[in-house]
Amino acid sequence: MGKTSKDKRDIYYRLAKEEGWRARSAFKLLQINEEYNIFEGVLRAVDLCAAPGSWSQVLTKKLRQNTENEDDVKIVAVDLQAMASLPGVKQIQGDITKISTANEIIKEFEGHKADLVVCDGAPDVTGLHDIDEYVQSQLLLAALNITTHVLKIGGIFVAKIFRGKDVTLLYSQLKLFFEFVTVSKPRSSRNSSIEAFVICQNYKPPPDYVPTMVNPLLDHKYCDFNEFTGPNRFIVPFNACGDLSAYDSDTSYPLLLEGQESYEYKEPVQGPIDPPYKEILEKNKSMQTNNL
Ligand code: SAM
Repeated sequence: MGKTSKDKRDIYYRLAKEEGWRARSAFKLLQINEEYNIFEGVLRAVDLCAAPGSWSQVLTKKLRQNTENEDDVKIVAVDLQAMASLPGVKQIQGDITKISTANEIIKEFEGHKADLVVCDGAPDVTGLHDIDEYVQSQLLLAALNITTHVLKIGGIFVAKIFRGKDVTLLYSQLKLFFEFVTVSKPRSSRNSSIEAFVICQNYKPPPDYVPTMVNPLLDHKYCDFNEFTGPNRFIVPFNACGDLSAYDSDTSYPLLLEGQESYEYKEPVQGPIDPPYKEILEKNKSMQTNNL
């Protein structure tokens, strides 16, 4: 670790390792659920920007509790990056801002609608806040666009958002499609990060809205943007989620937590995924062998 980089192995990182989650992000979704009960009755879900897969793990665990027949559960996970397989999760490797990926997701649902769409998408941050916020908002809009195709009326959409200076416009946009929009910061999300999550409940698109991947969502046809300025400005409720007794992601804790007497080693839940260059090296090697 370089001198200037912060050690990211905080309490949630350690707990994720101990409990077998692929990333500490799992706790964010679990804490959102503690507050909003987002998994209630959910059998079909889409996990956008899913790699390495901890949210898909949470979905698998929670959705299976909603039925006696595991086959009733349908989870589709999408990411630019390859992800180690997870039983019961259909994976699509693709870019959520591309129409082709959206169409693949829609095809997977075979005309059925999802009860829940989640998106933890994050761009590779540049450190230039305006650019990072812009790219993040584009991911959110792409996720919302896909959501308008696959989410059932009354369904829930949860997505990561960067609380930048132009965020009100995004909230207003979401409010066009959902009855309730709340912003929440789970306890496992670091205070130093501008990330938060929008919890959008009761999907209710404008009556004449036609889902399309081509039109930009900010279409003046469906609303008067002046409504969102001056005294009519819509203020989105903000709250923190996760039990107050839950660990704080910005606090340091001793390596041995309360109740633990000694450190117990646990095997990793999955082996490392082969890097993409390995496949190319193997291909080159076999071509060389064939030429000999
Ligand atoms: N929720 C995941 C978990 O719990 O394991 C962590 C997601 S990680 C914070 C953000 C992911 O967004 C990365 O894996 C990245 O590849 C993905 N991503 C960023 N831009 C994307 C895009 N345009 N399409 C698909 N995935 C994207």
